[in-house]
Amino acid sequence: MAGKNAKHFIDLENRYTAHGYHPIPVVISRAKGVWVWDTEGRKYLDCLSAYSAVNQGHLHPRIIKAMREQASRLTLTSRAFHNDLLGAFMKKLCRVSRMEMALPMNTGAEAVETAIKVARKWGYERKGITRNKAEIIVCSENFHGRTTTIVGFSTDPDANTGFGPFSPGFKIIPYNDPAALKKAITKNTVAFLVEPIQGEAGVNVPDDGYLRKIRDICTRRGILLIFDEIQTGLCRTGRMFAWMHENAKPDMVTIGKALGGGVMPVSAVVSSRDIMSVITPGTHGSTFGGNPLACAVGSASLDVLIDEKLGPRATRLGKLFRKRLHGIANEKVVEIRGRGLLNAIELKQSAGTAREYTERLMKLGVLAKDTHGQTIRFAPPLVITEKQIEWIIGRVKKVL
Ligand SMILES: *Cc1c(COP(=O)(O)O)cnc(C)c1O
Repeated sequence: MAGKNAKHFIDLENRYTAHGYHPIPVVISRAKGVWVWDTEGRKYLDCLSAYSAVNQGHLHPRIIKAMREQASRLTLTSRAFHNDLLGAFMKKLCRVSRMEMALPMNTGAEAVETAIKVARKWGYERKGITRNKAEIIVCSENFHGRTTTIVGFSTDPDANTGFGPFSPGFKIIPYNDPAALKKAITKNTVAFLVEPIQGEAGVNVPDDGYLRKIRDICTRRGILLIFDEIQTGLCRTGRMFAWMHENAKPDMVTIGKALGGGVMPVSAVVSSRDIMSVITPGTHGSTFGGNPLACAVGSASLDVLIDEKLGPRATRLGKLFRKRLHGIANEKVVEIRGRGLLNAIELKQSAGTAREYTERLMKLGVLAKDTHGQTIRFAPPLVITEKQIEWIIGRVKKVL
């Protein structure tokens, strides 16, 4: 477990920092690529990638270079003035997401809040919905962030107990259930907000065809389909965005996490010109949204994903990873699931908690994160090699 050195940092953190997390007891002080080092110089393979915010690997030279150069030229103007990077970055983001207009923010939760605002305004202006009556449909076990509006439609009691009263206008349906969506739509519905794979819920992969079916329902009923691709996007599941697996192009996408290349928060909403034009001067904004430093970092982060072909790599290595996991699975394993390099092992209740396994993996040099009691998530940086996958498998085999 944590050495003397680590204990000092953990105690200090625990004393002065609110306890919103329950971290694995490792103190990281350095990183490169897929590896991180603790304060005692021990090396670990990062199988979480900061919840998929480090798809390009830690300290990617191109991203760090872009950041350094921009940091010595211009970092912040606010949107009260133009800057010479925003347009080109948004153009690149629209191109990779096959959309027409983007709205830059910082964190994932802000991108989701933005999508909610755009969808509601679109509903009032384009569908003529009665003032303050707009409804948005969401799924049980969703994770869309931590703002009061967003936790208000979470079904996780840890996320919302004690934080009400909440914003009305959300309706919760089961995930992976197109019939439930059909039934839930009313004349006041403006949008369906959903994750193409539920990451935080434990890598819940819906049935093949689900994305296509909900796309068709939303089109037929005249409501917006919004994919939250903050975790599944940017090559994590093998395509630039997870919706591309089924060519189920949504009306809006929220993007975050790896858009900041693991160095700073960069998020955005992308959509069509028609939908995005409900945003007019004064109706939405963010002091840091679209700042030049974020544009430089975000732009380099996209370049790395494309130039290093991290999508195809995630597909290939993800298949290998799941195949090897199936090969070592024993009676303790209920299920192995995932897509690309977003994967999970679900353990039987009788096998003990996932937390016990992640702590043992830590001792063997693998940092993975338990979620929801019985699930271990594996989401290494996409720059991982075949050899490193085999290395992880050897250790997972040991703890099983
Ligand atoms: C992480 C995440 C968010 C929230 O992003 P933050 O940057 O933490 O606000 C929203 N949606 C999904 C699917 C996520 O995985």
